[in-house]
Amino acid sequence: MSRFKNVINFFKSLKFRLILFLILFGIVPGIVLKVGIVKTYEDRSVSIKTSEILSQAKILANQIVSNDYLNYPNSTIINAELDQLSNIYDGRVMVIDNEFHIIKDTYDLDTNKTIISKEVIESYYGQEIKKYDAENRYIELTVPLSRPVEQTGATEVLGVMLVSVSTDSINLNMEYLARNAYVIQLICAVAAVFLAVILSIQLVKPFHKMSKSIDEIKTGYGEDALSVNDYTETIEICKKFNEMLGRMKVLDDSRQEFVSNVSHELKTPLTSMKVLADSLNSMEDAPIELYKEFMGDIGNEIDRETKIINDLLSLVKMDKSAADLNVTNMNINELLEQILKRLNPIAEKQNVELVLESFRPVSADVDEVKITLAFTNLIENAIKYNKPGGWVHVTLNADHQYFYLKVEDSGIGIPEDSLEHIYERFYRVDKSHSREIGGTGLGLAITRNAVLMHRGAIKVFSTEGEGTIFNVRIPLNYIA
Ligand code: ADP
Repeated sequence: MSRFKNVINFFKSLKFRLILFLILFGIVPGIVLKVGIVKTYEDRSVSIKTSEILSQAKILANQIVSNDYLNYPNSTIINAELDQLSNIYDGRVMVIDNEFHIIKDTYDLDTNKTIISKEVIESYYGQEIKKYDAENRYIELTVPLSRPVEQTGATEVLGVMLVSVSTDSINLNMEYLARNAYVIQLICAVAAVFLAVILSIQLVKPFHKMSKSIDEIKTGYGEDALSVNDYTETIEICKKFNEMLGRMKVLDDSRQEFVSNVSHELKTPLTSMKVLADSLNSMEDAPIELYKEFMGDIGNEIDRETKIINDLLSLVKMDKSAADLNVTNMNINELLEQILKRLNPIAEKQNVELVLESFRPVSADVDEVKITLAFTNLIENAIKYNKPGGWVHVTLNADHQYFYLKVEDSGIGIPEDSLEHIYERFYRVDKSHSREIGGTGLGLAITRNAVLMHRGAIKVFSTEGEGTIFNVRIPLNYIA
């Protein structure tokens, strides 16, 4: 089975196609040339020989008529001339009178017999007929024996002279030519096959080189980048491959970083719990109040661990393909009102004014759970990273294609160099402050993924110390 596959693979390979192409290119022109040359030689030789014999025959026809040979066929001069023509051209000459009797046959086979053939008859009407029979290898000519009639000026046909000449000599030359051409062709074919195999191996080499380098990169033994500079095409493929490799490395790095961040984040509450538990254990007769206090702290750490795990699970869900969206047509105004209602107690606790402004009723195709999570994160951040006595304005607007959510706050703002990082997982501008207020650094990553899954866009504008604006744009109709 694998042998069969190998054979199929060989036929499909570039190498095989090159070999085939080069062989055809080397052999076909030779065959065409050979056929062409032999054919041209044949046509040309036959035409030269025909016109030569015709002119001789015409001269002789005139003599036959002027010597009145048809009535005196014993004329030694004419007979000698006829024999001479016959000998020179290795052919047969017949003189036929107007009753289709053969009065002279240089082969002496058919003298006094009658001959009726198409060519002879046509010649009686004054035509010269030339015929080449390639199969039987002869040229046949019929020339009318005619003389002008003095009274009328017309010509009178007295008989026909028929000359048939063998073309053996032409055929012999043709065979010789063809044989030589065969030998040359054979040499060319062998050279073409040889060259085709060598050339195709050479031409395909860079691709093998490439495949080998990729294998080496895969196993980690090769260089970090692919470089095969033999052809423009291989340079281009290498460039694309290296770009892809780069992207894969970035992905791999970010995956490793994510795993180490997750471990670190999950370890922190566990370390705190361990410290709290160990210090209680090391104390003899610790007062019940201290137990209660420490147990309260341990409870808080467990809450934090749970929050990190829940956020991670949300993020994993958002990382999946858009096919996991559970889209329904939702009233966005109501959805926002519910979110604000849920967040109001936190805002009040922080002494932050929370306002929702809707310009028009908006309904859109969204995944309720994911979009609620995204909007909650934005508004919660605006409350969390605010100043006492500050405000948060949430604005909803729409056009015929999108709805727009603006979350604006009068909070601490984000430093300019942090703006490009805030969507990264576990990124926090001020780690200790964020931890204090219960942040995990995953909120904006979740929000961004949710918005992108809805084919939307998110933008941030912020001035440190003054406040932050998050603009979100989501299409009203979700197109998968
Ligand atoms: P966290 O759980 O820490 O809030 P996020 O991913 O939601 O994580 O936010 C990442 C960081 O971006 C936050 O730690 C905070 O420093 C900054 N940030 C987010 N929203 C705001 C905002 N409205 N005002 C100021 N800083 C913000």
